[in-house]
Amino acid sequence: MSNELRTIAIVGGGASGIFSAIRAARLAKDSALNVKVTVFEASSQLLKKVKISGGGRCNVTHNQYEVRALTQSYPRGERELRSPFQKFQPQDTVEWFKQRGVTIKAESDGRMFPVTDSSQTIIDCFLTEAKSLGVQIETSSPVQEVGKTPAGFQLIVKGQAPMLFDRLLLATGSSQVGYKLARQLGHTITELAPSLFTFKIQHPLLSDLAGTSFPSAKLKLKIADEKDFEQVGPLLITHWGLSGPALLKLSAWAAREMKRQNYQAKLSVCWLGDLKEEEVRGSFWAKCEAAPKSNIGNVLIEPLTRRFWHQLLDYCEVPQAKKASELSKKDHNRIVAALHHSELQVTGKSRFKEEFVECGGVDLKEISFKTFQSKICEGLHLTGELLDVDGITGGFNFQHAWTSAWLAAESMVQD
Ligand SMILES: Cc1cc2nc3c(=O)[nH]c(=O)nc-3n(C[C@H](O)[C@H](O)[C@H](O)COP(=O)(O)OP(=O)(O)OC[C@H]3O[C@@H](n4cnc5c(N)ncnc54)[C@H](O)[C@@H]3O)c2cc1C
Repeated sequence: MSNELRTIAIVGGGASGIFSAIRAARLAKDSALNVKVTVFEASSQLLKKVKISGGGRCNVTHNQYEVRALTQSYPRGERELRSPFQKFQPQDTVEWFKQRGVTIKAESDGRMFPVTDSSQTIIDCFLTEAKSLGVQIETSSPVQEVGKTPAGFQLIVKGQAPMLFDRLLLATGSSQVGYKLARQLGHTITELAPSLFTFKIQHPLLSDLAGTSFPSAKLKLKIADEKDFEQVGPLLITHWGLSGPALLKLSAWAAREMKRQNYQAKLSVCWLGDLKEEEVRGSFWAKCEAAPKSNIGNVLIEPLTRRFWHQLLDYCEVPQAKKASELSKKDHNRIVAALHHSELQVTGKSRFKEEFVECGGVDLKEISFKTFQSKICEGLHLTGELLDVDGITGGFNFQHAWTSAWLAAESMVQD
């Protein structure tokens, strides 16, 4: 590459845009290349989502360094991310921050946060780095139009004269204007739908039990005219219905199908985990045989809470004072059915702690995953949530933002 000036425009000063700007400027500096990086951010504030992410703690990545296992947390993008994660994955994220004095810790469920438990640590790190590398940042500068001319990419920023750049990165997250810009350059936007939501369910088994959790439940979701989905994992009763890791995962995998059917579905729950009906029957039978004289209300089934157990007995119309040895076959059948496959009607969705990820975006067939460059428009790169990639909750969405930004930056500077 000759040392002619190369100009790079990055649209979007969020997670992916800022990380890419830093990587591009660092590469240029280390290789003494003449590169100018400018970030255009529509709002007055950079990294807004980083700030509020993870409840203000920023769940930067996930403690999963095995690439195959890592990609399984992406309902959309699983196959495409295998190769990018070979080049920049959670371990690299942790190392990158460590080299800049930011220590990242893992929690028992695999989520990773700065040890300060403050997203401001991440923001300060990025902004210090961007400043020291001379990245030019233009806030309150919404990009309204983009086009490709023989002289380069033309950008129209509100209130400014048109500008030309050699390379363009769109890192606009889930903004509607961002989708419009991608379309202007020839890209297709796939069906959009919110991902990561909780289910609204009204059912006598759940009433007044908000806060009750189940360490492992098996969920089977049936959506009319769509395929079925399953998940096993922790579950939580809320004021509105159900939440918890297994349910959020289910919402991510079934995001499009649930939207198409207006969030109406049938959910079958085994409250005891991934057990066959005969296994549930056998262990319940054994419990009753071991304590025949006990009131059935006192024959507790671990790990169910006493309150949930009593509610389940009420629902099955089995009096709590009935002796375990006196349960009829019908009582047994009802209890086993409720434990193994309670059938709940889902009637809508609710937000999960305001965390929200868009499923859908630029069609992955139109992207080269070695470089995150467009296959349709040479010199254009696209990263982060703008793409039709989304992860389940746990730091996976940021990891995709970092990885795509990293590879796009290398390509924008070196290719
Ligand atoms: C409340 C909340 C909490 C979250 N917590 C986590 C978490 O802890 N861990 C995790 O992994 N993920 C989390 N996520 C998801 C994560 O924030 C996103 O996946 C990630 O920010 C995507 O990065 P991005 O750079 O693609 O988009 P964004 O971070 O959304 O950045 C896009 C930027 O582009 C700007 N922009 C858009 N259009 C234009 C335009 N035309 N001109 C100029 N600028 C433009 C926007 O203003 C924005 O600043 C959370 C999301 C939410 C909403």
